[in-house]
Amino acid sequence: MTTHQKLIEFVRDYYQSTAFIPLHAPVFNGQERDYVLESIDSTFVSSVGAFVDRFEQEVASYTGSPKTVATVNGTAALHIALKLAGVESGDLVITQPLTFVATCNALAYCGADPIFVDVNRHTLGLSPQAMQVWLEKYAFIDDQCICRHRDSHRAIRVCLPMHTFGHPADLDGIMQVCEKWSLTVVEDAAESLGSLYKGKHTGTFGLLGALSFNGNKIITTGGGGMILTHEALAKRAKHITTTAKQPHPYEFVHDELGYNYRLPNLNAALGCAQLEQLEAFIAEKRVLSQAYAELLANSSLQYVVEPEHCRSNYWLNAVICENQQQRDALLKATNDAGIMTRPIWQLMNHLPMYRHALKGDIPNAEWLAQRVVNLPSSIKSQQHL
Ligand SMILES: *Cc1c(COP(=O)(O)O)cnc(C)c1O
Repeated sequence: MTTHQKLIEFVRDYYQSTAFIPLHAPVFNGQERDYVLESIDSTFVSSVGAFVDRFEQEVASYTGSPKTVATVNGTAALHIALKLAGVESGDLVITQPLTFVATCNALAYCGADPIFVDVNRHTLGLSPQAMQVWLEKYAFIDDQCICRHRDSHRAIRVCLPMHTFGHPADLDGIMQVCEKWSLTVVEDAAESLGSLYKGKHTGTFGLLGALSFNGNKIITTGGGGMILTHEALAKRAKHITTTAKQPHPYEFVHDELGYNYRLPNLNAALGCAQLEQLEAFIAEKRVLSQAYAELLANSSLQYVVEPEHCRSNYWLNAVICENQQQRDALLKATNDAGIMTRPIWQLMNHLPMYRHALKGDIPNAEWLAQRVVNLPSSIKSQQHL
C-alpha cells in the first residue's frame, strides 16, 4: 500500500466516516447550548455580560496570565497588543514570513511595516539566530536605547513571533536577542492556546500575547480573541477596545481614539463551555499526533513533532514532504479522496501588500513553504457516536 493510501485509510478509520473529512471542524460536546441559552435568557447578549468576565478570568487562570481582555477576534487582539507595546506609525516590526496573514495585517493597521526574518526548520517559528544576524547587519541602538534601521533610522520597537500550528517557537532564544536589542516581544499565540514552553504557557512570555477563538482554532467562540498581559496594560486594552469610553452614569465621554473590539457575551458563553473541554481536546490531539507519527515513521513524509522542552497543543498536524512534486501529489490524492489537506501559507513577502518589505535571507521559510502539508486534526464529535 502506498503512503497516500495508508494515510487515507487511517484518517477514515480514525474518524469512522466515509463522508468528507475537514481539516479542522469545531465540536460542541459540552455545555455550549446551556450557556448560550443562558446568555439569551439573561438578555445580555452583547458586549457587557457575566460570560465575558468569566471567560476572561478563566483564560487568565488557565494560562497564568495576570490579566486578559477579550476581543472580537484574534486580529483585533493583535492590533491592540501591538499598539500597547508602543508600535507607532512609520515603525518597523520584526516578524516571520511564514505565518497567517493576520500577523502582518495587525502591524500594518498600526501604520508599521514588517521586517521578515527566517524561521527555524524544527519549530517552524521565528529563528532567534536569523533575527540576530539581521539586526547585526542592518540595525543599531541609538542614544535613547531605541533600536533603529541603519539606512532609514526607522524605529524597531517590537518583535512579533508566532507559534506555528501550536508548536512553541524558541522563546528563550527570542527573549534573549530581544533583550539585547531593546525590543519588546508581542506573541502571536493565536494557534497555541494550551501549549507550554518549559512548563509556561505561550502568550505569557512577551509583554503582551494574543489568542484567537476563530471557528478553526483549538477552541472557538464563533469569532473572538484575547489579549494576555499584566494589570496596567490590560486596563488600557479594555479602555481602547471599548471605544475609550469613560465610566459615567449617562454622559458619553470618550477620551481618546477607541475601537469597538469587544467580544459579545453570546460568544463568551460559547467560549466558557469550550474552555471546560480544552485539556481533554489537547489530550485527544496528542493521541492523534502520536498515531500519525507512528503511521508515517518509515515513510518519506516527515511528521512534525513538538520542539524539545515543550508541550504542543498539536492544533494542526503537519508533515514535511521531500519536495514540491511530492507535496502536490499528496494534496491531490487526499483531496480527491474527500480528505481535506492543505499546503502551508504562501510566504508573506510574496503577497502584494508585503512584497516590498525588508527581509533577511529566508532559506528555511522558502524550503518549508514548498513542502509542508496539514493533515486532518479535528476532535472527534461525540454527538454522532
Ligand atoms: C487565526 C490566526 C490569527 C487571527 O485570528 P482571527 O481570530 O481569525 O482574527 C492571527 N494569527 C494567526 C497565526 C492565526 O492563525
